[in-house]
Amino acid sequence: MRTYGLIGQSLKHSFSADYFNSKFQREGMTDYCYELFELESIESLSRLIEEHPDLEGFNVTIPYKEQILPYLYFRDKVVDEIGACNCVKIINDKLYGYNTDVEGFLKSFIPLFQTYHHSALILGNGGAAKAVKAALDELSIQSTMVARKPNSVDEILWDTLSAGTIEDNNIIVNATPLGMYPDVNSFPPIPYKAITRFHLVIDLVYNPAKTIFLQKAEAQDAILQNGIEMLEQQAEASWNIWSPAI
Ligand code: NAP
Repeated sequence: MRTYGLIGQSLKHSFSADYFNSKFQREGMTDYCYELFELESIESLSRLIEEHPDLEGFNVTIPYKEQILPYLYFRDKVVDEIGACNCVKIINDKLYGYNTDVEGFLKSFIPLFQTYHHSALILGNGGAAKAVKAALDELSIQSTMVARKPNSVDEILWDTLSAGTIEDNNIIVNATPLGMYPDVNSFPPIPYKAITRFHLVIDLVYNPAKTIFLQKAEAQDAILQNGIEMLEQQAEASWNIWSPAI
C-alpha cells in the first residue's frame, strides 16, 4: 500500500484525509491510502517512520509545523523563509520538507484580486499569516500583520487598528483561529463599518464556511472568500510534491 498521511496532535476530523481518500477512490488508485497519525510529541516521529516503511509522504499540522524543522534532511527555501513546514516527502528514509500554504493561498487569491487591491492587513502573525505574507510579497502587494505580540516593528498591535487603517488596506485576511469551530461566536475585533465593496475579505478559517468575520464583511458588500479553496489548493500542491511524476 502506498501510504500518505497527516501528523498532528489532535486529528479527530481531518479535511485532508477525506480529500485524499476521495481522490484515490475517484481516480481508481486502489493501492493508495491517506492515514491520520496522532503524535503525543514530535519525538515519536522517528518511531512512526520506522513502523510505517510504506509511508511516502505526510502533511504536518498544529503543533508540529515548526517543531518538525530539526528532523528535516532538506528544507525548501519557502520553509526557511516562513519557518514552518506542512508537507514532507520521504526518500530513502530522509525527510524533505516543503510549505504548500504559500502556493495554496496564491492559487486561491489570484482569481479574486483586482488591480485596485493594493495593500493588505493580515490578522495574526503565526505560520499561516507568514505564508499569506510570502504569497502577497510574490505579487508585490504590500502587507502588514496585526499581532498580540509583534515580532518586528513592521507588525502592528490590534488596538492601533482604526477605521483609517481599514480604509488604507483593501485586502483583509483573517489568519487567526477566531471564529473557527467550536469557537464560532468569536471574530477578530476590527472596525467593520470601514469595510467597503472595494475590499477583498478572506478568512483562512474553513469551518464554518461563513464565519461571523465573513458575515460582517458581507454586510458591508465586500468581496468574500473562506479558507476552503486554499485548503484544496495546498492539498493539490502536496500531491504534486509526492506524486512520482514530480
Ligand atoms: P498559529 O501559527 O497558531 O497562529 C495563530 C495566530 O492567531 C497567532 O498570531 C495568534 O497570536 C493569533 N491568535 C490566536 N488566538 C487569537 C485571539 N484570540 N486573538 C487574537 N489573535 C489570536 O496558527 P496558524 O497555523 O497560523 O493557523 C491560523 C488559522 O489559519 C487557523 O484557523 C487555521 O485553521 C487556518 N489555516 C487555514 C489554512 C487553509 O488552507 N485554509 C491553512 C493554514 C491555516 P498569538 O501568537 O498571540 O497567540
